[in-house]
Amino acid sequence: MSLRVYNTLTKQKELFQPVKPGQVGIYLCGPTVYKPPHIGHMVGPVIFDAVKRDLQYKGFAVNWVVNITDVDDKLINEANERGTTMREVAERCTRDYFECLALLGVDTIDHFPKASEHIPEIVAMIESLITRGHAYATDGNVWFDVATDPDYGKLSHRTAEEQEAGLRDLEGSGKRNPQDFALWKAAKPGEPMWESPWGPGRPGWHIECSAMSMKFLGETFDIHGGGMDLLFPHHENEVAQSECATGHTFAKYWMHNGLTKVRTKAASGEWKSEKISKSVGNVIDVRDTVRQWGAELLRYVLLSTHYRSPIDFSDDVMVAAKKGLATFQRLFERVHRLTGQPLPDKGDDIDRAAAGLLETDHAAYARSMLALKMKFLEMMDDDFNTAGAIAVLHEMAGEVNAFIEKNDLERTKLPELLAAVTAGAQTLKNLGVVLGLFRKLAPASPGQDDALTGKLMDLLIQLRQDARKTKNFGLSDAIRKGLTEMGVTLEDRPDGTIWRRD
Ligand SMILES: [Zn+2]
Repeated sequence: MSLRVYNTLTKQKELFQPVKPGQVGIYLCGPTVYKPPHIGHMVGPVIFDAVKRDLQYKGFAVNWVVNITDVDDKLINEANERGTTMREVAERCTRDYFECLALLGVDTIDHFPKASEHIPEIVAMIESLITRGHAYATDGNVWFDVATDPDYGKLSHRTAEEQEAGLRDLEGSGKRNPQDFALWKAAKPGEPMWESPWGPGRPGWHIECSAMSMKFLGETFDIHGGGMDLLFPHHENEVAQSECATGHTFAKYWMHNGLTKVRTKAASGEWKSEKISKSVGNVIDVRDTVRQWGAELLRYVLLSTHYRSPIDFSDDVMVAAKKGLATFQRLFERVHRLTGQPLPDKGDDIDRAAAGLLETDHAAYARSMLALKMKFLEMMDDDFNTAGAIAVLHEMAGEVNAFIEKNDLERTKLPELLAAVTAGAQTLKNLGVVLGLFRKLAPASPGQDDALTGKLMDLLIQLRQDARKTKNFGLSDAIRKGLTEMGVTLEDRPDGTIWRRD
């Protein structure tokens, strides 16, 4: 098995070979903190959280950096509209962003450098570009001279004409070439500013990422990630200025994730998918979604599509995914019920138990579970195919459930076979954790009492079951009736009893 990663630079899957053996540096372009985060802002962090977990599972030491762009025109405009400062806007939105990451269990990011705290590094890099003849200053602005970089366009694979057509930013005078982009912008009255050799001003957006990524990860590092929409001009400019400043390769592998689209039904009754944007009015708030559906389900949905494909977001998608995720929850509850113990957060995989089973009548189960574990790891090795990996987890759940039924374990509860069931379910759980699933994330509609309610209901269901076992039907009926009066319905299924509020 060996990891292969699709590299935007070469437009193909390549064997992953880190710059330093055993270590991986990842830089993901973070948010421009001027508005509360929406679902689209969480896609990259959730995907790269799974990427980092997988690399750690494979034994790499991973250093992951996500920048915070807290100096930008968008922040200045927002501050002016609200009659506040750029700093206040940045601090509030950064707090929001951190809260949403925590809600979704994205807890593996090592550094969050802020542009405003790296002005000296940015200025030093611009000076080096001027010294090497790749940049020039006019009227307090500094421009990158695109004509001096023969490699310009190599990442986005655009021709010179396409580059010009794609430019969104033609501001500023004194440019030698329309493609030249700002490294340093002269201060306008009333704007935040820093001193520099070219007069007071602030950095351009692209140079912030180059300076911060190299500070934390070195001049050449392994993976640079970001949304597909950042490929041009942002990432193209990052490569150009970084490699012209150092003379070395900047990032070895460029990974771009697809964008989130929202599926809505038009008045005509037709479905359409649109990119999330304020002007379309389809911005989906992260906290609202978690409140409605739960954090784990949102994470599950974001990982159920291959990261390079766009994610179609809609209530239908969430409802379907909820059924998928419930398969696992039901299995974990079933194992808990059969063995009397919940699965621990970390426990032994199937490997040891399988060795013991291979000489028995249950060898087929052992072999199949081992093969599925391999298949999961192969999916992740194939350009982090989380969607394929989740499909394998479903196959594993099917195997464990089939093993329980085939051996009639609900009735016989044979300890050595239950041990095999536990080992199988634990393997599934451990692999899920590689994706960041099956941890304690925010449930849907969190209320202060929800955790306690869950525990009390588990207890009542257990008492009712015990009552039925001892043929105390008066008590078991009284429990059901009492709950019905409170608006709680119990449903007995082959794999256990579930409850729901009416
Ligand atoms: Zn960036």
